[in-house]
Amino acid sequence: MRRSVRIFLLLICIVVPSAAQTPAPATPTRADILRGEYGRYRANNDLLYYHLDVRIDPEKKFISGKNTIRFKMLQNDTRIQLDLVATLNVDKILLGATPLHYEREINTVFVDFPATLKTGSEYSIDFYYSGTPQETGRFGGFTFRKDTAGHPWINSSCEGPGAMVWWPNKDQWRDEVENMDISVSIPSDLVDVSNGRFAGKTDLGDGYTRWDWQVHYPINNYDVSVNIGNYSHFSDQLNDLSLDFYALPENLDKAKRQFAQAKPMLQIYEHYFGEYPFPKDGYKLIEVPYAGMEHQSAVAYGNHFANGYLDRDWTGVGISTRFDFIIIHESAHEWFGNSVTAADASDMWIHEGWATYMECLYVESMYGYDDALKYTNALKAKVQNRQPIITPRGIHREPPQDMYFKGALMLNTLRNVINDDTRWWKLIHDVYQHFKYQTIATEDMVGFINKETGMDLTPIFDQYLRNVAIPTLDLQFQEADGTVSYRWIADVKGFAMPVRVGKRGSWQIVRPTTEWQTLSTPLKRDEFEVATDLYYVNVTRE
Ligand SMILES: [Zn+2]
Repeated sequence: MRRSVRIFLLLICIVVPSAAQTPAPATPTRADILRGEYGRYRANNDLLYYHLDVRIDPEKKFISGKNTIRFKMLQNDTRIQLDLVATLNVDKILLGATPLHYEREINTVFVDFPATLKTGSEYSIDFYYSGTPQETGRFGGFTFRKDTAGHPWINSSCEGPGAMVWWPNKDQWRDEVENMDISVSIPSDLVDVSNGRFAGKTDLGDGYTRWDWQVHYPINNYDVSVNIGNYSHFSDQLNDLSLDFYALPENLDKAKRQFAQAKPMLQIYEHYFGEYPFPKDGYKLIEVPYAGMEHQSAVAYGNHFANGYLDRDWTGVGISTRFDFIIIHESAHEWFGNSVTAADASDMWIHEGWATYMECLYVESMYGYDDALKYTNALKAKVQNRQPIITPRGIHREPPQDMYFKGALMLNTLRNVINDDTRWWKLIHDVYQHFKYQTIATEDMVGFINKETGMDLTPIFDQYLRNVAIPTLDLQFQEADGTVSYRWIADVKGFAMPVRVGKRGSWQIVRPTTEWQTLSTPLKRDEFEVATDLYYVNVTRE
């Protein structure tokens, strides 16, 4: 169920400059609305459970099987909306033994019931489907590849285009099942690693073996994954948490070396936010043929068993080469992205801004505050400030990549606005704890932070998330008088934010608003500094 706390307000996400930077078309298409809107036939029911049970034939590149979908009705109705990409076949949809009528429109499947489904009652349907999933999206969607030794290597990664590219489901972010079973039947010489806890395998007697996985927590549709290949496996333990690692045999030694970063990383995130979110399911890292993805409890890894990001110094200041970007970034999403999820893709900064900020926290914990500040400020070079981070709701359009870097810089700014690290550490811990296992909107998070801090931080969030420009501190010096006048230039009415100014080492905190104020200073125009490494702001001086 994992319903949104707000009913009606409404990389790895790897970052590449992409079409996401193109201004959105003004009018959403019918496909956008079907995909993104939480309309009547989605809102009338609450997901409880999926059992995805599929057979995958590597030779024919063919998938067939069913998803059993259990849900509770929230309103009397005779129709629900599910999603399956138009290129896959709907074989039949059954309520018990009764075949149901359905209507397909683009990638949506409207399922009709012969009698009214009653508010508060639970129903279960079996959705049978088959076909050849297509490669699509930034991470492949669903790919039938071979490893270098010629073994089949089949992976799913569908965050952008949606889980509908390979299995039928209620394909949106707001409503999640409470738990899920995943059964994957494959040729018996291969291994499947999916999400959750391995529950056993069964030889089907026809050359195929079924691998069963149990997910004990709410899960985003796009996190549900298969990783099928000639995998080797090794394991470790972090207190009671099982750690399982899967790599192709030729990479096993490299994986044992590189994946050793997982344990200290998990300890660091647990220190800041609390226990790893999915202890019953364990933590897994799985080698894949693309860069990586935060698949819940089964993090996909394709970063060449090397530090940095795809053999690069990701932030260009010599710090990201000390750790494996994909392990650190994708695993951060277990807390923000998988456990705390945006209810609508427009609020995806809740995944990416926080996960990027968690990279900064990892650096701070491993290498100290100065290096963390250096790493954080190096993110500025990646910010574009061309579109607001929060995009229109209800059309499932991925926000611009500023959600990563500007999102993290905003959180670092907030730390300095609060200006009390003990309070900041408690706040970010409590934000996670308050919203874990939920789908939320930006307003929920901002409201909670305002309440916890007793401050009205809404204008700051609005400036960074809902506008293009960052705030500019406008300074006018009257050197003869020994004064400086200051104000914020910002889009948000009533924007006010404290900021450290004066001389590094003996900063003075001023509280500019959008109205002019004046301060006495012995410092000349060229000596007067602003702590732009602590606050992501522009400064103009006259
Ligand atoms: Zn990410």
